[in-house]
Amino acid sequence: MAGRQLLMTFPVTESSHRLAEYRARGGYAAIEKALRSMRPEDVTKQVTDAGLQGRGGASFPTGRKWQVVVPGDGQPHYLIANADEGEPGTFKDRWILENAPHLLIEGMLLTAYALDARHCFIYIRGEFDLPYRRIAGAVDEAYAAGLLGERILGSDFSCDLIVYRGAGAYVAGEASGLISSLEGKKGYPRNRPPRLTVKGLYQRPTVVNNVESLSNVTVIVRDGIDAFRAVGTAKSPGTRLFSVSGHISRPGVYEVELGYPWRKFLDEDCGGVLDGRALKAVVPGGISSKILTGADIEHLTLSHESLWEANSTLGSGGMIVVAEGTCMVRLLEIMLRFYHHESCGQCTPCRHGTGWMHRIVARIAAGEGRPEDIERLYYVAKYNDGTTICGLGDAAGYAATGILDKFRDEFEYCIEHKRSRYQGRLE
Ligand code: SF4
Repeated sequence: MAGRQLLMTFPVTESSHRLAEYRARGGYAAIEKALRSMRPEDVTKQVTDAGLQGRGGASFPTGRKWQVVVPGDGQPHYLIANADEGEPGTFKDRWILENAPHLLIEGMLLTAYALDARHCFIYIRGEFDLPYRRIAGAVDEAYAAGLLGERILGSDFSCDLIVYRGAGAYVAGEASGLISSLEGKKGYPRNRPPRLTVKGLYQRPTVVNNVESLSNVTVIVRDGIDAFRAVGTAKSPGTRLFSVSGHISRPGVYEVELGYPWRKFLDEDCGGVLDGRALKAVVPGGISSKILTGADIEHLTLSHESLWEANSTLGSGGMIVVAEGTCMVRLLEIMLRFYHHESCGQCTPCRHGTGWMHRIVARIAAGEGRPEDIERLYYVAKYNDGTTICGLGDAAGYAATGILDKFRDEFEYCIEHKRSRYQGRLE
C-alpha cells in the first residue's frame, strides 16, 4: 500500500472473491445506480471527466476511446477485457482476477451499458489457472443472480459475458492480435486504420480495455468524479497497480497513489533493494518501457507526467528492480531472446531485426563481440522503429537502445575484455 487506495480496499480472504462478499462491500451498487438514473452517455461522460487513463500500457484516455462508438447506430458493438497479461514483469491484473473478479464484471457491465454492447468477452491468457477459475466462477455467480443475461436487475439492459482462454502468445495481448485470436484465427496483429473502435471484432465497433481500467470504471461510477480525482495528481488521477519483482525485499502487487515518490515506494513500501544492495536500475512498466537508472528515479514520482519527462512510461505496471552488480549485457540478451521468440513474423523488420539484435548481444555476452556491434544495434533498432504492424518491433528496439544509452560502458567493456564486467551475473 502506498498512498490512498481505490481498488485494494478490502482484506483478501478465502472468500473475498465471492459474490456475497462483494455485495456486502457495496458491490453492484454502481450498475444499479447507472441503470436506475444514468443514460449511457452519462457513464461515458463521467469516465471521461474523471480523466481515467488506460492501465494496460498505452495510457490512452479511456473515455475518449469509448466516444468513437456511437450507441444506437444500428450495428452490434463489442466490449473485450484484455486479461492476456503477458508483458514480462507484469502480474497485477492477476490480483484483480483472483481477488476481485466482480469488480471487473461490474466495470464491464457499466462499460457495456455506455457502449450499447450486448456481448462482452474476457480474453484471459491460457497460462492463468486460478485467475481463470475465479473469473469463470464469478461470471456463473453473476448469471445466477440476474446480474448478467436478459433484462439485468429488471431493466431493459441485457448483456452476455463470455470468458475465452488464449493459447499463450505474447502478441495476442496486443488488441488487434487478441481480436484475431478471438475470431478463431492466428493471433496476428492487424494494420490500422481502421481503428478497432470502428472495425474490430467481426468488423464491428469494438472497445478493448485493460482489466484494471475496467475495474476503475466501477469505482468512478460508484464514488463519483470528485472522489476519483481527489486521489493522484491533476494529470494522473487515481491509482495504479504495480507488480514489483526482481531484486526487491518484498515483491508483490501494490496499489500506489499516482504521484507517490518512487524511491520512497521502493525503500519503505517494498522493503528496499534485496540484501541492502545499491539500486542500479528499474524497468518501470514491463520490459517494453524504457529502463531508468537508480539515479534517474531519485526525484521522480510514480505518475504519467513524471515518467514522460524521464523519457519512459508507466507501461503495464510491471516494475522490475535491478540491483548493483547485475550484468546488463546478459539482461538485454534475455529481453531480446524473448522478443525474437514472440515475434509473429508478419513484418520483416521485426521478424529479422529481433533475431539480429539478439544474435549480436548474445555474442557480446559470450565474449565474442566486435567493435562495430554497438552501432549495429542502434542501426537495427532504428529500422524497427515505426515500421511494423504492432508495437513489438518498436519495443524490442527501445529495450536495446534504452539499455545501451544508460549502460554503454558495460557493453564496451565486454567487447574489449571479451568477458562481462559482472561475469553475466543476474541474481
Ligand atoms: Fe508480428 Fe512483430 Fe509485426 Fe508485431 S511487429 S505484427 S509481432 S512481426
